[in-house]
Amino acid sequence: MSKFVFITGGVVSALGKGIATASIGFLLKRRGYNVIPLKFDPYLNVDPGTMSPFQHGEVFVTDDGAETDLDLGHYERFLDISLSRKNNVTAGQIYYTIIENERDGKYLGKTVQVVPHLTDEIKRRVLLLEEDGADVVLAEIGGTVGDIESLPFLEAARQLRLERGSDDVIFVHLTLVPYIKAAGELKTKPTQHSVMKLREIGLQPDLLICRAEMPLTEEVRKKIALFSNLPERNVFEAQDVDFIYKIPIVFYNQGLDRVILERLNLAVMPIKMDDWIEFVNAYDSREDEVTLCITGKYVELKDSYKSIIEAFNHAQSATKTKVNMRFIDAEEIEEKSPELLLSDCDGILVPGGFGKRGIEGKIRAIQYARENNVPFFGICLGMQLATIEFARNVAGLSGANSTEFDPDTPYPVITILPDKAGIKKMGGTLRKGAYPAILKENSLAFRVYGKREISERHRHRYEFNPEYMNILKEKGLVFSGISPDGRLVEIIELPEHPYFIAVQFHPEFKSRPLSPHPLFREFVKAMRGYHARRTQQG
Ligand code: GLN
Repeated sequence: MSKFVFITGGVVSALGKGIATASIGFLLKRRGYNVIPLKFDPYLNVDPGTMSPFQHGEVFVTDDGAETDLDLGHYERFLDISLSRKNNVTAGQIYYTIIENERDGKYLGKTVQVVPHLTDEIKRRVLLLEEDGADVVLAEIGGTVGDIESLPFLEAARQLRLERGSDDVIFVHLTLVPYIKAAGELKTKPTQHSVMKLREIGLQPDLLICRAEMPLTEEVRKKIALFSNLPERNVFEAQDVDFIYKIPIVFYNQGLDRVILERLNLAVMPIKMDDWIEFVNAYDSREDEVTLCITGKYVELKDSYKSIIEAFNHAQSATKTKVNMRFIDAEEIEEKSPELLLSDCDGILVPGGFGKRGIEGKIRAIQYARENNVPFFGICLGMQLATIEFARNVAGLSGANSTEFDPDTPYPVITILPDKAGIKKMGGTLRKGAYPAILKENSLAFRVYGKREISERHRHRYEFNPEYMNILKEKGLVFSGISPDGRLVEIIELPEHPYFIAVQFHPEFKSRPLSPHPLFREFVKAMRGYHARRTQQG
């Protein structure tokens, strides 16, 4: 039998509920429990795959090819586990199942209703994780308490508490305690109201976590506890930190995991987290500094590149190097010269993306990196554009392009491959999830990974066109990672260049704090080397 912890948020969105959930998961896991996280998203999209990154931030991809909420990325990184489509459930999926059941006549003539049919389906999704052997299911309910959309999820949680009892199901509520400058005070009213909203629908929180800019005073904590009907020791604070991986330590120091375990009647087993503290300390003692340019499209919204930023955070700690990430709008590179925008950077990253906007600017950035020996790392679209750049400017295939951007290109070096290419989801749909690749011995890729066979996650529609393999190979492009059947190009590199590598997959999804992804780690080292050369010359 599992225990269940539901995590809700109040007052405002973007309080860091995902990180709070991941941090609680980390502590319970380190206390010896098998923790399985679950994110409920109250929107009606079946998954975030069809949503703009502007709306929703990054789409996180799991091994099984599910397109999920970016909080699953936090869960994977903090808990060091790999998740699947079972761990992210949207209202869209719940309704979809209900309507399918109804059309199949499964409700035997009954009126299909939010309670009990929708709430039963929500509970069923939670209980699937109990069947998977969770000691603790950690279910984060997206949105803010008071939203119409999240009501069925909260109601399902209430029912589960009634069915299983208060020792087995608890509620953690995250709120904001704003600081009002003019009054010079932390204000508890929004928290009081948010807890009231929860109680109106029958949920009494067991623990409160208060986001605040400064420490809660004794008086503030007392007031919050009193109005929330809680003992004072169940009110915790989450002050802003400069590195999200410090949050578990912040919670631990207040005894948060202990209170949760006691509430659930679970033994408080000893905890070990020296490795984590070392990882955080290494970040605090970064010595060298480099500047990385990321050419993007969603540059205003850093959440679109969440996993990439986190992968660099892991690499920063591993190499004790501070990476200043500068996002550059690729369209700006089209207008201005790359020299102007890129000459003071130590590395260039072209991340994944869809659509035509800014691609010529990204191609110019890649050309600049190739010609000036600047360390270059291409991810997904970045590999496709590096191929195009090489085809046009080195192999002389003028007008080479991807059929995504120019369906009539004379040289479609990137294209949609026919079904027989061994891709599970074919035609116009995306290739998603984990696929293996074999690395070429003596290549940069092989040196970076230190092994011959790898598995990485994908999310793209277009592929390298194998018809161009020989001609590009003759001109010096190395295909250093290929699918086991030899059909799909996964990694390209340039041996004449100090560090130029591009991959068709998304390595950022597999980087973890204590096992940073080697492609990010080695890229940071290459940037460090380049920085030393650049500043010496200058
Ligand atoms: N737009 C490209 C494709 O569909 C690249 C996608 C990506 O970078 N994730 O293949």
